[in-house]
Amino acid sequence: MDTFSCPNCGQLVFFANTACLRCATTLGFDADRLTLVAVDDPTRRCANHVIAACNWLLDDRPTHTDGHGAPLCRSCALTRTRPADGDADALELFAIAEQAKRRLVFQLLSLGIFLQPRDASTGVGVAFDLLASTTQSVITGHAAGVITLDLAESDAVHREKVRTKLSEPYRTVLGHFRHEIGHYLFTVLVDDAMLGEAQARFGDETADYQAALDRHYRDGAPAGWADEHVSEYATMHPAEDFAETVAHYLHIRGVLQSAAAFRLRVDGPEPVAGDTDVLAADPVGVALDDTDDIEPLIATWLPLSYALNAVNRSMGEADLYPFVLPPPVIDKLGFVHRIVRRATARLGAVPAP
Ligand SMILES: [Zn+2]
Ligand SMILES: [Zn+2]
Ligand SMILES: [Zn+2]
Repeated sequence: MDTFSCPNCGQLVFFANTACLRCATTLGFDADRLTLVAVDDPTRRCANHVIAACNWLLDDRPTHTDGHGAPLCRSCALTRTRPADGDADALELFAIAEQAKRRLVFQLLSLGIFLQPRDASTGVGVAFDLLASTTQSVITGHAAGVITLDLAESDAVHREKVRTKLSEPYRTVLGHFRHEIGHYLFTVLVDDAMLGEAQARFGDETADYQAALDRHYRDGAPAGWADEHVSEYATMHPAEDFAETVAHYLHIRGVLQSAAAFRLRVDGPEPVAGDTDVLAADPVGVALDDTDDIEPLIATWLPLSYALNAVNRSMGEADLYPFVLPPPVIDKLGFVHRIVRRATARLGAVPAP
């Protein structure tokens, strides 16, 4: 995430702010300029500004409306289904999910990837169904451009229970979205020219999914899984390995962007006393988007993540990034980096509709 400043007084303001706490200027997020701007006309606000605390402004020609005909912002327009107006409990969880989704959409826009709302007649684009499992059976996942989230994942108690049950080191709503969008990005970014390279790293994505699922929940991850996979779940099926790798690419890029915005640097210590090599990272100075090479990103990420993990532990919290990146995983991250760069080059020239 980036940092922002109040256009009126220069005060540091944050992504979700609706007003400057110093000068009271009303603020909204402008998705074209990727920044917070002053809002003089309240009709520029997204219709979900109350129901989902959405602080995004409408595009010039909004393409989607809510159930009452009021126009939605570019992020909210991606949501196809949400809880009913009268379901207060589910709407509370929906607002939390939309907040995480805005972070996802912001991050992809800042990487040059524009998510197009799904057109039901052509099947092109992506849609989110944010559904409460209190009223129906809901399985979080992606299918043919539709990302479904069980809104119970917005509830911290439920999420922690599931996380513990599945022995996962990490589980968040933003993490779900980063994983599911990975499935979608496979369908739009891995073209025929890249498919062979993808399969060489991740395996055959057309392999029987149900058989893989049954095996995974019966036998668990194979011994030695951490030598080649970023998580146990990534071992389940090649498509899950790809989605997990995209999620981690977005985790890393997201944290590096925040670190750069605050000009966080790591200048030590040396891993071995007296050694001239020191752990060092300068997220501001590293030009991640200038090269297909993943190494500058990894060389910046590792010292920074060690430092941030230590900071979290000193608060009695779990590690910020409780994962290990062996060489095959770094190679997979490198593949994702390259397809993101290709997408940015290809889509960067296309104006947002
Ligand atoms: Zn201000
Ligand atoms: Zn909105
Ligand atoms: Zn998945």
